[in-house]
Amino acid sequence: IKWTEGRGWHDAQLVPYAPLSLDPANMTLHYAQEIFEGLKAYRGPDGSVATFRPEANAERFRKSARRLAMPELPVETFIAACDALVQQDKAWVPAHGGEASLYLRPFMIATEVGLGVKPANEYLFIVIASPAGAYFPGGVKPVSVWLSENYVRAVPGGMGFAKTGGNYAASLLAQAEAAEKGCDQVVWLDALEHKWVEEMGGMNLYFVYGSASNEKPVIVTPELTGSLLAGITRDSLLTVAKDLGFESAEGRISTEDWKRDTENGTLTEVFACGTAAVITPVGSVKSAGADWTQGDGTPGEVTMKLRKALLDIQTGAAEDTHGWMHRLG
Ligand code: PMP
Repeated sequence: IKWTEGRGWHDAQLVPYAPLSLDPANMTLHYAQEIFEGLKAYRGPDGSVATFRPEANAERFRKSARRLAMPELPVETFIAACDALVQQDKAWVPAHGGEASLYLRPFMIATEVGLGVKPANEYLFIVIASPAGAYFPGGVKPVSVWLSENYVRAVPGGMGFAKTGGNYAASLLAQAEAAEKGCDQVVWLDALEHKWVEEMGGMNLYFVYGSASNEKPVIVTPELTGSLLAGITRDSLLTVAKDLGFESAEGRISTEDWKRDTENGTLTEVFACGTAAVITPVGSVKSAGADWTQGDGTPGEVTMKLRKALLDIQTGAAEDTHGWMHRLG
């Protein structure tokens, strides 16, 4: 679908996958007006196909567009485009029963040609799809994380809440630093004090206080300060936790809280969440000052209960009591 200044959205087309041809002076290549989304289509037990909360992706896409001075695509158009592609590629949606899905990647770029920093006056919105296997084919495996103090992902007033390519480019060196330290993932801290936990490389974080067997667990996730991405999985888990009889809250967690509460046994589990892996347990933490194991380093009980509950809704194994599945028939 194209957008042109003075004309709005026009010329929606469903075409075979093919390379794009771009002018070397295409404005996106120089000034990075680019935003994207990620969501999954699953096949239910009756063979029908549904996407998970596409309106939430559509709303976040509008917010990202606003921050990058791009035109806002109507929610209905975003969903209709995803639906049209899934209908076309329905045979690629994996069978019901596992965690496999058809991953959708909607994105928008500027198409105006010209050098000079200003919002472009022509854009292109595209959705592509790719089958995605189970994230953990051999069973859920905890990740090790590196608390990044040398780099920041986003600053107050910046673009942290937007899903734009530049944020990911900014994260590559920190991710390489995490790998050098022997860790799987980077955890971002706030830009000003380097102490408040924000999110993981491509996932939000949750802290589990209490345990499933002894006391009512409370799951706490860093509040949306504007410099982290408002994950749709994060938002869904605030509700799923309550379905399971846990409490959920948004708050501020510092690296000192994280270490101290792990050591005194009140913080029992930590996990990351996002569309790709749904939930990934955090098994160990490393930072410049200290290293520790999270719990006993294995996936926690609360973490795994939440993972199953949300995945069951997404894959159609459990009833969709919140109206989150968008059915395509
Ligand atoms: N934070 C970042 C930086 C991400 O890239 C993602 C993945 N979109 C998330 C969090 C999780 O968001 P969601 O649950 O919507 O996939």
